[in-house]
Amino acid sequence: MCGARPSVAFAQASADTSDDELWEDAMAKQLKCGDLMPGCDFVARGASEEEVLAKAAEHAKKAHGIQQVTPELAAKVKGAIKDA
Ligand SMILES: [Zn+2]
Repeated sequence: MCGARPSVAFAQASADTSDDELWEDAMAKQLKCGDLMPGCDFVARGASEEEVLAKAAEHAKKAHGIQQVTPELAAKVKGAIKDA
């Protein structure tokens, strides 16, 4: 299991519905990067832990030079994920 999973299908599925609150409800998890990387103000949001993790991994790569998310780091990140 490596690489980010795109969530395009999920976004498209919600585009047809007029109920915007449903979409906001779906973005139920968030991770503040600053909790792990002091001084960083990036926030990853997603409907699930996996989605937040994927976004956080992408951000960590670009912003912090972390090429690979180890199981230890993933566990740390999961622990920092909170309900939005
Ligand atoms: Zn960061």
